[in-house]
Amino acid sequence: MKVFENIVDLQNELFEVRKEGKQVGLVPTMGALHEGHASLIERSVKENAVTVVSVFLNPTQFNDKGDLDRYPRTLEADCKLIEACGAQYVFAPTVAEMYPMPDTRQFEFPPQSTVMEGKKRPGHFNGVCQVVSRLFYIVRPNRAYFGEKDWQQIAVVKRLVDYINADVEIVECPIIRDEDGLAKSSRNSLLAADERAIAPNIYRILKASTEWQNSLTIKETHSRVIAEINAIEGLEVEYFDIVDGNTLLAVNEWADSAYIVGCITVYCGKTPIRLIDHIKYKG
Ligand code: AMP
Repeated sequence: MKVFENIVDLQNELFEVRKEGKQVGLVPTMGALHEGHASLIERSVKENAVTVVSVFLNPTQFNDKGDLDRYPRTLEADCKLIEACGAQYVFAPTVAEMYPMPDTRQFEFPPQSTVMEGKKRPGHFNGVCQVVSRLFYIVRPNRAYFGEKDWQQIAVVKRLVDYINADVEIVECPIIRDEDGLAKSSRNSLLAADERAIAPNIYRILKASTEWQNSLTIKETHSRVIAEINAIEGLEVEYFDIVDGNTLLAVNEWADSAYIVGCITVYCGKTPIRLIDHIKYKG
């Protein structure tokens, strides 16, 4: 496995790869890798002759500097995991290499980029689009792998691909959870033991809420999920939206859409750590 810091070195290598007719898979990450990332990398390794894993903590997608400062940085361990998954290349650039000058491009893809995370983290998806578009220009992958953990992000990235005419297939990979149901996340390592103990309640309650469809309206389901999570000391819902899976706009009746998803963000503990999750109700 080779690790590249420089764009031009990676591009020279990939030029040779493509000359041999080999297909390239890209797995964009911010590091602090876990089994969720590993599932994306393993899938790319299976489906492409060559896999590039980018490890880049992208500052332009953080609207909260504290969150960026706290974010775990574990490049050495990340490289071991990437190699064990069978990928050929790691791309781990510095901020100056990725952004030799400030990126002033503005990406907005309403409604997918403006609801939920888009509303709560202004600029977040703009930063995601800035870095993902750069990675696409640099790597020129045949396929790029994204996790359903960041469910809204996939919807936004698909809009980006159409917008910039990128010739890349977006491969959606299922969310990987711990045994107790907590969605695996790099931020989980920041949870204290007592916080980690209460965090699985988020998915437990979301899963239970899929059983309420026959007896409760969307509005009632919405209120009950929030009330049950907030009743647990140390958890506080930031938002819970029940939306159409394609437009990401709020749905008022279960019958109004064939594809309905509940998206949630919960603050956990004293710091607090922001955890996101989602549940499919229909479709
Ligand atoms: P991140 O490093 O958090 O930017 O994540 C990089 C990629 O890994 C994104 O496409 C995420 O959606 C995906 N990912 C992160 N956690 C998980 C998980 N628990 N299951 C599946 N994919 C994940």
